[in-house]
Amino acid sequence: MPAVLGQVSNRGQPGPVRQQRITISQKYGIHARFQAAIESGGGYNVHMLFDLPDHGTLYQALLARDADYDGQAYVGVATTGVFCRLTCPARKPKSENCTFYASVGACIEAGFRACKRCHPLEPMASADPAIGALLAALEARPEYRWSEGDIARLGFDLSTIRRSFKRQFGMTFLEMARQRRLRGGFETISDGGKVIDAQIDARFESASAFRAAFAQLLGRAPGTLDSSAMLYADWIATPLGDMISVSDESQLHLLEFVDRKALKAELSKLDKLTKGRIGIGKTAIGALIKVELAAFFDGTSPKFTTPLAYHGAPFARRVWDELRQIPPGVTFSYSQIAARIGRPTATRAVARANGANQIALVVPCHRVIGADGSLTGYGGGLWRKQKLLEIERHYKQQANESTMS
Ligand SMILES: [Zn+2]
Repeated sequence: MPAVLGQVSNRGQPGPVRQQRITISQKYGIHARFQAAIESGGGYNVHMLFDLPDHGTLYQALLARDADYDGQAYVGVATTGVFCRLTCPARKPKSENCTFYASVGACIEAGFRACKRCHPLEPMASADPAIGALLAALEARPEYRWSEGDIARLGFDLSTIRRSFKRQFGMTFLEMARQRRLRGGFETISDGGKVIDAQIDARFESASAFRAAFAQLLGRAPGTLDSSAMLYADWIATPLGDMISVSDESQLHLLEFVDRKALKAELSKLDKLTKGRIGIGKTAIGALIKVELAAFFDGTSPKFTTPLAYHGAPFARRVWDELRQIPPGVTFSYSQIAARIGRPTATRAVARANGANQIALVVPCHRVIGADGSLTGYGGGLWRKQKLLEIERHYKQQANESTMS
């Protein structure tokens, strides 16, 4: 897989996974590497057979705008989501925000999009007019759901296009378009933009899409996500939209809809707490909450037994515990919660604690509504709060029927 072969972690950790091989280029310098590549058979992707030089070397080349690396190495910038040639005239990013890749395909696969100043896709586009035309079409409508029919309508032969994209980028045009769409959707989310649109556009369709999106939320390169993690993020598709869970082997630390505006801040808090050791992966707890959510949404059971890790002050924890006492199908007001925890005047603090909940559904902050019966706010969106309360009314009916019989 070229994406992995050509990738250099920007952390420089001597972990077993990202251990660098000493390459010909490191021994003899970059020109020797090109020479060796040509001698070893040439061809369009021969550079992928070699590891890139280390991060420091490539970063120096980036600062120097070293043209020797053109077509051989690209830089993905975590803070902007853009990838560049090392010769890009734009202001240079900080070293820790850079990840280097050996191919354009690897950059796109990792969720980066092409820079509009240094145009890293240009050589491919000018080498093949069909590629150029499709790249321009994609750039004009990045959010559009491209299909094979569209390619045919533009007058291109499907199998020729498939072959030439595979050869140049290691992926088909449709795969590239999907990656581009996901990226667009996630930028909307992290900007706090029109979140529902973004969610519809950008459903995770693959683990690599999730990786790219999650890295974007954390403001990092996807390649830095999995070394010796303490907490693992996983993605859960639900009828009300995709969710992210963060867990370790004993507790659930976070469960949120991906378009929740506070998600980015909540994740950075956990990221700080673990000193950057959030990875992507599965845990027993992550599996348990998936099963319980599936049962919740298909109407089988409203019960959540997954153990929780609370990240909050004692008062907030007290509120969250109280929220968990509210049965499904029942709603309370902020002042009722305040009264129940023996702090009848602390309505506003209760509302704040309610809003600070980062374990959606399991800590049912959606069961708190205004004293006048209005829905008031919900971090996951009012439409979703409404839906959740509808689902839970069904559970309440079930409960009533079983007590009557
Ligand atoms: Zn650039």
